[in-house]
Amino acid sequence: MTAPTFDGVDLIELAQRFGTPLQVYSAGDVRRRVQSLTRALHGLDALICYAVKANSSHALLKMVAALGAGADIVSGGELERSLRAGIPGERIVFSGVGKTAEEIRTALRAGVGRFNVESADELECLSGVARELGTVACAAVRINPDVDANTHAKISTGRAENKFGVSIDEARSCFAQARDFTHVALNGLHVHIGSQILSLEPFRQALQVVDGFRRELESSGHAISSIDVGGGLGVRYRAAQDSPPDVADYVAVIREALRDFHGRIVLEPGRWLVAEAGILLTRVIRIKQGSERRFLIIDAAMNDLPRPSLYGAWHDIVHVGQASGPVLAYDIVGPVCETGDTFAQARELAECKGGDLLAIKTTGAYSASMASNYNSRPLLAEVMVDGGRHALIRQRQSLDAMIADEVTTLQWISA
Ligand SMILES: *Cc1c(COP(=O)(O)O)cnc(C)c1O
Repeated sequence: MTAPTFDGVDLIELAQRFGTPLQVYSAGDVRRRVQSLTRALHGLDALICYAVKANSSHALLKMVAALGAGADIVSGGELERSLRAGIPGERIVFSGVGKTAEEIRTALRAGVGRFNVESADELECLSGVARELGTVACAAVRINPDVDANTHAKISTGRAENKFGVSIDEARSCFAQARDFTHVALNGLHVHIGSQILSLEPFRQALQVVDGFRRELESSGHAISSIDVGGGLGVRYRAAQDSPPDVADYVAVIREALRDFHGRIVLEPGRWLVAEAGILLTRVIRIKQGSERRFLIIDAAMNDLPRPSLYGAWHDIVHVGQASGPVLAYDIVGPVCETGDTFAQARELAECKGGDLLAIKTTGAYSASMASNYNSRPLLAEVMVDGGRHALIRQRQSLDAMIADEVTTLQWISA
C-alpha cells in the first residue's frame, strides 16, 4: 500500500478528477534532483543537458530549463520542444546516429551549441550544411569505448557491436580529416554507454578511455574544449533490490577521471532526473481467474507504459489507500490484445477487486514519451504535483484528436 498522497496531493482525488490511467509527476522530486546534481558539480565548468527523450513534457522541460539546465536532443521534434520550452540553442546538444541534413540545417539555424557526431559521414554532412549556411558548427565525436555497462541489452550502447559512436581508431581519423573541414570546429569528445546503470565501474572505465584519447589528441595538436559524459545513471525500479549509486559518488568518478581536463563538462542525465518522480495511476477493471493463473486486468496497458513489454522491465505496483484481505499472486495485465501486455507475473498484492486504484511506480522516464495509440487507445493524461498543488500538464487525448490526421476521402492521383 502506498500513502494516498504524492508530493502533498491526494491521489484518490486526482484519479477521480482526471480519470485513469493517469501519469503523475512530482515537481519537487525533479527540482531536488537538478539541485543536488548542480551542487555535486560545484566548482566545475559543467552544463546539465537533460535528455529530452526520457520525458519530453513541455511542463517538465520548462521546469528544468528554469533551473538552468539545457537539453540533449535526438531529433528535430525534440529540438522544437526544447526551443518552445525556452531552452536557448547554445544550451542544446544534438546526439543520435541518424540526424538528417534537414534536421542539421534546422538545428544550425536555431544556434544549437554542439553536435555529437556519430560517424565520418555525418561529420561531412554537418560540414556541408554549415558551409551552405555560412556558419561554423561546433562538434564532438561520440566514442564507443567498448565497455560493458552491465545493463539490459536493449539499452546498452557502449559495446563495439552497438550502432552508437565510433571506435578510437575511427575517431582518430575523424580528427585528422577535420583539418580539411572549414565549417566544423571539432573540439569535443562524447561518450554515452547505456542506461539504467547501477554501478560506477562502467562509467569509470569509459571516462578513462575518453580521457586517454583526449591526451593523445592534445599532444598531436587538437585542442579539446569539452567532454560530454552522457547519461545513464540508474534509478530504483525495485525498491527492495535496486541500490543506485549516490549522485555525489557519480560526480566524484567524473572529477577523478577528468582531473587533468579543464574545459567544459557536459552531462546528459535523463532517467535519473525524472523516473522516480513519476507514478502511473490505474484502476482494476476486473479479475479473471484463468485455468492456471489469476489475472488482474487494469486500465493501463503496454501502449501507456511500454517498458515491461519492451524490456521485461520490473515496476513496483502498489495499492493506493486501504487494502486488506489476503496476499494473492496476480498476473497484472492490460486490455491490449497482446500477450506481451503484461506488467508483472505472479506479483503478490493484497486481494484486489474491480475499481481498486493502484500505482505503478517509477514511471517518470521512458513511459509517456514512448506511449502510442496501439489498439486505438488515446494517449493518457498527465498531471504535475508540487507541494500540495496540482496542475494538468497534458489532457487525455480525445478520440477526435487521435483520428484527426487521417485522410477520410481518398484523392487518388494517377501517374
Ligand atoms: C538516452 C540518452 C541519454 C540519457 O540516458 P539516461 O539513461 O536516461 O540518463 C543521454 N545521452 C544520450 C546520447 C542518449 O541517447
